[in-house]
Amino acid sequence: MTAASGRSRPIVAIDGPVGAGKSTVARRLAQALGFAYINTGAMYRAVAIAARNAGITPDDPGLEAKLARLLASIVISFAGDRVLLDGRDVTGELGAPAIGDLASRLSTLAVVRAAMRELQRKAGAAGGVVMEGRDIGTAIFPDAEFKFFLDADVAVRARRRYEELAAKGAAIGYDEVLAQLRERDRRDRGRELAPLKQAPDAVLVDSSHLTIDQVVKLMQDRIAR
Ligand code: C5P
Repeated sequence: MTAASGRSRPIVAIDGPVGAGKSTVARRLAQALGFAYINTGAMYRAVAIAARNAGITPDDPGLEAKLARLLASIVISFAGDRVLLDGRDVTGELGAPAIGDLASRLSTLAVVRAAMRELQRKAGAAGGVVMEGRDIGTAIFPDAEFKFFLDADVAVRARRRYEELAAKGAAIGYDEVLAQLRERDRRDRGRELAPLKQAPDAVLVDSSHLTIDQVVKLMQDRIAR
């Protein structure tokens, strides 16, 4: 049992801005620890896909009520690394920049955050998970046993994101990626509800000049202490 939580295995929370390497690091760390890996950004993205499919746009009148109905009617689940929306594998659609942008917009809304909070708390309740996102260490599991805030220079993050998209054949320039990333940072850090910020007890890891392996090792060492 871990101290006060009553969980038999710990929760590792990894928060940080887009492009800091959270997903890769969290997946690798989970593998190394034999823990489950939960990507909460993918949940927000799945909501964005559901909203798009339902024809809901961020400027709709009565947006929150529409989303409340939508959220009550959909099921987001995981099958290993795959993300399912109403049982359909939507993993391949999650990475589209338009979906990321819509997810970021919808994630500012109380109705969406409340639904995701419930889902994420259920998913992590038993421990033995590495959960990554923006507010895991601050709002979802403020009592997580291990918390990391993974950051990197904005130019480094934009370069990584650009290379990732270019490898997938996306027709987008570096400057546009940088501008999108700055806008997403502004929205994620500036929103009223559960904004992106480092929890006071989180370990700050700056990945600007570190490899993925180095970041994972650093976290493992910290957990093994
Ligand atoms: O991490 P990812 O870029 O896939 O997340 C997509 C969007 O979902 C983020 O820009 C952020 O606005 C939102 N998000 C959030 N809280 C989380 C995870 C993601 O608000 N825990």
